[in-house]
Order: sequence, then structure tokens, then C-alpha cells
Amino acid sequence: MNLTQQACEQVVRTAVALADQGFLAGVGGNLALRIDAEHFAVTPSASDYYGMAAEDICVLRLSDLKQLAGNGKPSVESGLHAGMLKARPDCRASVHTHQPVASAFTLLDRPLPIADDEARRLIGGDVPVCAYAPSGTRWLASNVAKRVRFDLNAYLMRNHGAVCLGASLDDACRVVQLLEQEAVRWFQRALAAQPDNRQFQQALAALNS
Ligand SMILES: [Zn+2]
Repeated sequence: MNLTQQACEQVVRTAVALADQGFLAGVGGNLALRIDAEHFAVTPSASDYYGMAAEDICVLRLSDLKQLAGNGKPSVESGLHAGMLKARPDCRASVHTHQPVASAFTLLDRPLPIADDEARRLIGGDVPVCAYAPSGTRWLASNVAKRVRFDLNAYLMRNHGAVCLGASLDDACRVVQLLEQEAVRWFQRALAAQPDNRQFQQALAALNS
């Protein structure tokens, strides 16, 4: 099996695993994997992750997003992923999620503090919220790309979701999980700080269940 086939199969497996964990919210979210210095594989636009095959994964040229293979139409966030992969040559994987709690946190428009030791080590530090721009636009890709740092593997996008990076898809998925865990813990602390607010305590009970 060649590198491209391997990458496409890994993308399919990872998309299903992320969907199983509820991080893609239906057909939301998408992911990319670098194949070599000039090419990457990306999920097709608005596709059902459970019905997707390796042949549906799109192979694009990193420099201009030209599609070279794949039955699907490339994800609208291909430009976002290309920007991340160009900014971080040390990373092979870029995963964009609509993970529920971290996405809700982006409405607050403030950095997410990362307290847990493992999370700090793998994410790199507190996670910034990149300025809002509509999904699939160059404007959004640019808002995120300009925040990218070599020591930070997670970025939140205002009123939208997250982008997580990793040397491999497994590493990027671990960042996704830790980001969600830290967002849950932030809400738990914030809600617990208001014991007399009945609505907050109901929300806290739901988060803890
Ligand atoms: Zn999205």
C-alpha cells in the first residue's frame, strides 16, 4: 500500500472514531493528514463519516489546494487545514471539531485555561479563541493561521469549534479529548462557584452525569 492510500485509510478510521466520541456533531468537523511535503489528504465536504471510504478522501496539493485524487468534493475547511500544515511543518495532522463543550466555551471569547498536567504538556498552554469569521472562508483560515505558534497544539474559533494539531492523527485526537476535558472542567468550576443559582446547579449536574 502506498503512502497516499495509507493516509486516506487513516483519515477514514480517525473520522469514525471522532464521530463515535461525539466530536464532529453530525457532519460538522473535518480532518487533514499530510502525505508528504507537497500533499495532504482531507475529508470530503459534508459527508457521512460512517459511509465514507478511503476512495472518497480528497488528496490536495498544499500550495494551491488543487485536487489530485478522491471521489469527494474537498472539505470547505481545506484552506484552514492547509494553513495549519504550512505553519506547522512539524505536524502531520490537523483536526477541526465541533466538540460540544469546547465549542460552547468559544461563545465566551476568552482563552481557555489549561490546568491539568498532561493537557498542558500535549496542548502546550492556555488555548486562545481566534476571531470570528464564517465557516469555509479564507478569512477564517487567516484568523487562525495568524495565531499559530510552534508550542501550541489547540486553537478555538469563536462561535464555531476547535482546530487541534499533532505529529500524528492519534496525537491530534488526544489533544481534542484533552481540550474537551479542560472545557468541561472550566464550566464545572464556574458553575460550582455559584451554589445558589439553581439553573447553574442543574447544568453542573448535567455536565457531571
Ligand atoms: Zn466547522
